[in-house]
Amino acid sequence: MSKESELRPMDAEQLREQAHKMVDFIADYYKTIENLPVLSQVEPGYLGKLLPDSAPNHPEPLQEILSDVQEKILPGVTHWQSPNYFAYFPSNSSIAGFLGEMLSAGLNILGFSWITSPAATELEMIVLDWVAKAFQLPHHFYSTGQGGGVIQGTASEAVLVVLLAARDKILRRVGKSALSKLVMYASDQTHSSLLKASQIGGLNPELCRSLRTDPSTNYALSPDALCEAISNDIASGLIPFFLCATVGTTSSTAVDPLPALGKIAKSNGIWFHVDAAYAGSACVCPEYRHHFNGVEEADSFNMNAHKWFLTNFDCSLLWVQDRSALIQSLSTNPEFLKNKASQGNLVIDYKDWQIPLGRRFRSLKLWMVLRLYGLEGLRNHIRSHIDLAAHFEELVRQDPRFEVITPRAFSLVCFRLLPRPNSEDDGNQLNRDLLDSVNSTGNIFITHTVLSGKHILRFVVGSPLTEERHVNGAWQILQDKASALLGNS
Ligand SMILES: *Cc1c(COP(=O)(O)O)cnc(C)c1O
Repeated sequence: MSKESELRPMDAEQLREQAHKMVDFIADYYKTIENLPVLSQVEPGYLGKLLPDSAPNHPEPLQEILSDVQEKILPGVTHWQSPNYFAYFPSNSSIAGFLGEMLSAGLNILGFSWITSPAATELEMIVLDWVAKAFQLPHHFYSTGQGGGVIQGTASEAVLVVLLAARDKILRRVGKSALSKLVMYASDQTHSSLLKASQIGGLNPELCRSLRTDPSTNYALSPDALCEAISNDIASGLIPFFLCATVGTTSSTAVDPLPALGKIAKSNGIWFHVDAAYAGSACVCPEYRHHFNGVEEADSFNMNAHKWFLTNFDCSLLWVQDRSALIQSLSTNPEFLKNKASQGNLVIDYKDWQIPLGRRFRSLKLWMVLRLYGLEGLRNHIRSHIDLAAHFEELVRQDPRFEVITPRAFSLVCFRLLPRPNSEDDGNQLNRDLLDSVNSTGNIFITHTVLSGKHILRFVVGSPLTEERHVNGAWQILQDKASALLGNS
């Protein structure tokens, strides 16, 4: 390359030219995404065979790299944005989210203290207040009181920071030596990120109560079971300190009864965290807000805007009632970060609300989403997916070979193919085979779970590009593969 054409780190005209090429590449990707196999079909280690074993010594042109992306990288990509993606939970991208990411990357600030970019802190406070208002969250979660909202990377980080805050709060009261006596409560449907948080937090693994749920309550956490566990633990000289409830569990979108759980937590002085990582987005629709009733009693509430709220990964929103609890656990104050605004307690320094020091300007992305779509656009987004899920559920119900397993609350349908009459198999192998068979087509991607020992298929509508024809097409594939499997018996 000549000196002229050499890519400098941040030359404005080169940026314009190269970024245009990248935007074109991404737009073309979206144009053809529907034709790509949703679930990547490569074998482990495939990429090592295609790429050189050391980095280039000399610069290479973007065009060459993009053609490698096309030929070597994309085959190893599972297309989460495909309209035929119905797996796990969605991870929404949107034009607004994409533009926000671009802007955030363009400014590339680290907003750990207010002074490092006042707009980053203040915009984050404002948009989290906006969302709190749109979700009708209680006023103690607003930044104007003792609490406030913060953007974490993921729900896993959110539950970790509140668990640490809750742990230290109780230990300040009962003494540090009581750490091994602290008890945490959740259900057997609670996301595994809570257990990881408890491991990091040094809790006694034997005192992480995973309360049994069953089909009679659609796998929701039972207040009676919680009361009983707490009484037993107190009688044994242990110290209950943390309860995690979920609105929209990962397996089946079960909704834990927040009002009753909140009351129990409060009367026992337990920190009450509500995890609504996926379903929280539905809070924006008045007709689904009732699922979140009782959040008023929560000490902390979390939802992932990056799941179902048109905000590109990562953007996990956490609200706390008492920000001082977080800050007491997570703040540090080294000399090199001291400044007048922080020392004078005039500002929020979000570094004290999270694990890392450095933090991205993620509020720009959420602000873009809120402004470019408006709350009404976001409501329509949620509603259209829930309607499509209801449509899919109806299709399943009409085919007597299948059964719907749990009542659908949001945009997840849990179902399975019924076992053949007089078959040795209880249906579990049959449904494993059906899952493999539909996913190996590359035309759709769905995932599974196990509930009460049954292997169940999960169908989640959530990709912004999904339309009714994709749902119908997916159902056709499921029916065809079911016929093929049943015909072989
Ligand atoms: C997805 C999910 C999580 C974990 O989310 P991350 O942001 O990936 O950590 C936690 N809880 C529930 C209910 C979820 O659906």
